[in-house]
Amino acid sequence: MTRLTSCRSRQLYRGGLTLAPASRKGALMTDTPPLMLFNSLTRSLEPFRPLHAGEARVYTCGPTVYAYQHIGNMRAYVFADTLGRTLSVHGYKLSHVINITDVGHLTSDADAGDDKMEKAAAAAGKTAWDIAAYYQADFESDLARLNIRKPQHPRATDYVPQMIEWARSIEAKHCYRLDSGLYFDTATVPDYGRLARASTDGGESRIDPVPGKRNPVDFAIWRTTPAGETRQMEWDSPWGRGAPGWHLECSVMSAALLGHPFDIHTGGIDHREVHHPCEIAQNQAHGDCDHSGAGIWMHNNFLIDRRGKMSKSSGEFLRLQTLVDRGFHPLAYRLMCLSAHYRSELEFSWEGLLAAQTRLKRMVMAHAKSLDQLREPPAQIPGDCWEREGVTRALVERFVSAVSNDLNTADALTVLDELLALKRTAPECVVTAAHEMDRVLGLNLGRLSRTDLRVRPKSATIDAEAIEARLAERREARVAKDFARSDTLRDELIAAGVEVMDGDPLGWDWRVDI
Ligand code: AMP
Ligand code: ZN
Repeated sequence: MTRLTSCRSRQLYRGGLTLAPASRKGALMTDTPPLMLFNSLTRSLEPFRPLHAGEARVYTCGPTVYAYQHIGNMRAYVFADTLGRTLSVHGYKLSHVINITDVGHLTSDADAGDDKMEKAAAAAGKTAWDIAAYYQADFESDLARLNIRKPQHPRATDYVPQMIEWARSIEAKHCYRLDSGLYFDTATVPDYGRLARASTDGGESRIDPVPGKRNPVDFAIWRTTPAGETRQMEWDSPWGRGAPGWHLECSVMSAALLGHPFDIHTGGIDHREVHHPCEIAQNQAHGDCDHSGAGIWMHNNFLIDRRGKMSKSSGEFLRLQTLVDRGFHPLAYRLMCLSAHYRSELEFSWEGLLAAQTRLKRMVMAHAKSLDQLREPPAQIPGDCWEREGVTRALVERFVSAVSNDLNTADALTVLDELLALKRTAPECVVTAAHEMDRVLGLNLGRLSRTDLRVRPKSATIDAEAIEARLAERREARVAKDFARSDTLRDELIAAGVEVMDGDPLGWDWRVDI
């Protein structure tokens, strides 16, 4: 095995690193605790130290746009967005990239099977380019509905010349050719698979049936189109006409847009096993050093349901739109994600989602109550809130400590609940502290209203206006002591799937069965 030496860029990690200057920090950061993040590479919590003073550069592996994203995929982006927001309130200027994989991803991450894009295009009778554009647009709309701040979205197909250039630069020392393309020899870099903590002989699932590979875990850098075949997406290269291997795009796009090394690389936990070790190997080879390319590697755990991990290959999966059709607000799903730690599995259930929506509604109502007491919402936390309202200060500090502790959003949410439940605290201090907390949580507390959070399934046979009209009529009947009429109206509503909620402590008048 070739031992690579330390590279120039490694020096950036040693000494002289400072946190963002206090003047850049957001209003929340009165007394900033260090931001501690779990690095999958070392399997330990580490303080975040920017490689460029005052900046945070983050790369998130994005979707393969051959199908709709499921809500498990979206958990990965809610996590990355929460990380980005936390870095922002810590005062760092954030550069965040989520790439769009529109070429090169095979049906197995371990480098085997068909090209996902070409397969989806053939099944739909469309071009691979149309398929990519359609699902990219759908993905972007889901990001917006989940209040995920707009990152940069480079498309893999726009970086193919840079990928060919990268492959040429590592070919002589690190690659070998087979009829099917150019392969990376994982034995040429130190410690392949250290991120996965896997031995280099790989597991059964890692064995790619390509004949001629030197090691089972070697992977394709370039896939040459077999003689006599044509792909919809293919380019000329020194290794014949073909397409890049999937892992190459993330090395190339992160280097092009963020520079290597950059601060934080994120993805779902499945990427810790195959995709990210391959990216690291490519980065080591390209930098001619044993640096992984990013300071910290972070991975979110899976969203699961009763059948296990939610996945596209399992056939049936839930999209954000499915939740909306069942009457839920997308931000209820965001809150559901935030209520578990990103490194824990999260089990999806409709009951859990309903509970999240109810919790969000409570928050919105409490926030609106404080807001109603003010003539004008203050633009900033009034400077004297901290002195006047010690309780607000203590809660904000607890909130900051929670999110700075490896993004403990579950604890942070309970602090927000406590803030909104305060009864005798100046409303301007409550509102502005809630606003600051929401810069991290992204729940849009100030913009949502109670009625936005009414569960309203698409399949309901009666609309909100008609329900409100019947309820008004029922109230009149009750005032007139016409209880027979009141009962009839109630029964009619029940028959239409509407539950009438007299005296509900949360202020719901009605609810439609989901
Ligand atoms: P893909 O489009 O399959 O490359 O996946 C996009 C992102 O979603 C990747 O970061 C995956 O690791 C992540 N992901 C896939 N399935 C799940 C799941 N069930 N829960 C959480 N993240 C997931
Ligand atoms: Zn990637």
